[in-house]
Amino acid sequence: MNDEYVKGEPYFCDVSEKICSFPYLEHDISCDNLIVGGGIDGAITAYYFAESGLDTALIDKNRLGHMCTSCATALLEYQLDEHAAALKKYFSPSEVLQVYRFGLDALDMVESVIKKLGNACHFSRRDTLIFSNALFGKWSVKKEYGFRKAGGLDVECIDSGSNPFPFEVKSGIIAKNGGAEFNPYLFEKQLIEYIKSKIPIFENTALVKIEGGDGNFIVTTNYGVKIHCKHIICCTGYDTRDFTAREFCEKFISFTIVSQCFDRPLWASRALLQDDGSPYHYMRLSPDNRLIIGGEDVAFKHGKFDVKVADKKYAALAEFAQSLFPSIEHFEIEKKFCGAFSATGDNLSVAGQSRRDGFFYNLGYGANGIVYSFLGAQIILEQLSGKVSPLHRFFSPDRPLP
Ligand SMILES: Cc1cc2nc3c(=O)[nH]c(=O)nc-3n(C[C@H](O)[C@H](O)[C@H](O)COP(=O)(O)OP(=O)(O)OC[C@H]3O[C@@H](n4cnc5c(N)ncnc54)[C@H](O)[C@@H]3O)c2cc1C
Repeated sequence: MNDEYVKGEPYFCDVSEKICSFPYLEHDISCDNLIVGGGIDGAITAYYFAESGLDTALIDKNRLGHMCTSCATALLEYQLDEHAAALKKYFSPSEVLQVYRFGLDALDMVESVIKKLGNACHFSRRDTLIFSNALFGKWSVKKEYGFRKAGGLDVECIDSGSNPFPFEVKSGIIAKNGGAEFNPYLFEKQLIEYIKSKIPIFENTALVKIEGGDGNFIVTTNYGVKIHCKHIICCTGYDTRDFTAREFCEKFISFTIVSQCFDRPLWASRALLQDDGSPYHYMRLSPDNRLIIGGEDVAFKHGKFDVKVADKKYAALAEFAQSLFPSIEHFEIEKKFCGAFSATGDNLSVAGQSRRDGFFYNLGYGANGIVYSFLGAQIILEQLSGKVSPLHRFFSPDRPLP
């Protein structure tokens, strides 16, 4: 069955300068490394492979950057979907702190790529706020704050009395410089511009069959062309059916609306926001002061998206925005879109080589999907050069999932 992964009018790829287009693969080729999937995760992986001088080719069955990448809200954060206490089934407290620090390292990696390539994607480092207005939520936010503070992270706890935001916050944690934002489509465009002379890229080229094993794969494309490669790196996002029957995670659909421009930012710090409600919401501002608000997730169903459900969810997001900012007369919905989204049980993404099938994976799952694909690329490069870092076991595709 053909599943829909994206629906609506993604905001971030509505730009005048598009990612350039590439031909489909017409004849057999050989390369050491074949990256399959040219969304942001494939582009990040390809960037680091190009920087390491590895012989690599990239194929995508559609156009680059037009699947889930186009509808990511691009809140880049070190904090996870859940608080540390909710993850004790998976990690010791010191491991959670290690994971938070990996996230901070990954944010520095994004920043150093921007320093090298220039900032043509509206990148900015930001504070983040996670907040709760519920009774139990208040308690768990305080506990998480204590945990992070004791672990040496730069956090501030706020309540109704010290709330600097123009909306109600009964309890919240501000993580100083704990996040960043960019336009994910324009960031991918920058990566592709940089790598296109170093790595052959083919669009409208689908992997349909894989033969052989690690060290000697033969991939057949939709046009019957063969690619001989030593390693396959799967960067196909939420659709991994061409590689494995395993489900790495439970899928959802997440919804987003983008408001009209306001003449000033709705909150001065421009921090990235996330509440812990059920359903939860995440928010950021665009460079031209629009509110971008997402969440209201529902379970993913195979086939086409249910348009009626989507319309209800867009209306619910607008209603939530109105409740946060009652002084705004009316939130116009200028863009609305939704896409597949998922998180693993331990909130981490999937990266590295699987001993089961020999494939390398860099799958940016979870709220930190994009941030983690920077780490995923490092894990793969280290494994290819025979090194083992502490990151590997956290992100391994062979760990018990979901
Ligand atoms: C509404 C929403 C909000 C989000 N917000 C955030 C956020 O704030 N922060 C964050 O970090 N993440 C966020 N995400 C998640 C983020 O979108 C993903 O982590 C990221 O886009 C995944 O990128 P990708 O390159 O893996 O996937 P995609 O962009 O989907 O790319 C996968 C590519 O693989 C190609 N492909 C698939 N199968 C094949 C095949 N057989 N052969 C060739 N090519 C193939 C597809 O054509 C596609 O181009 C959000 C997601 C959604 C839906």
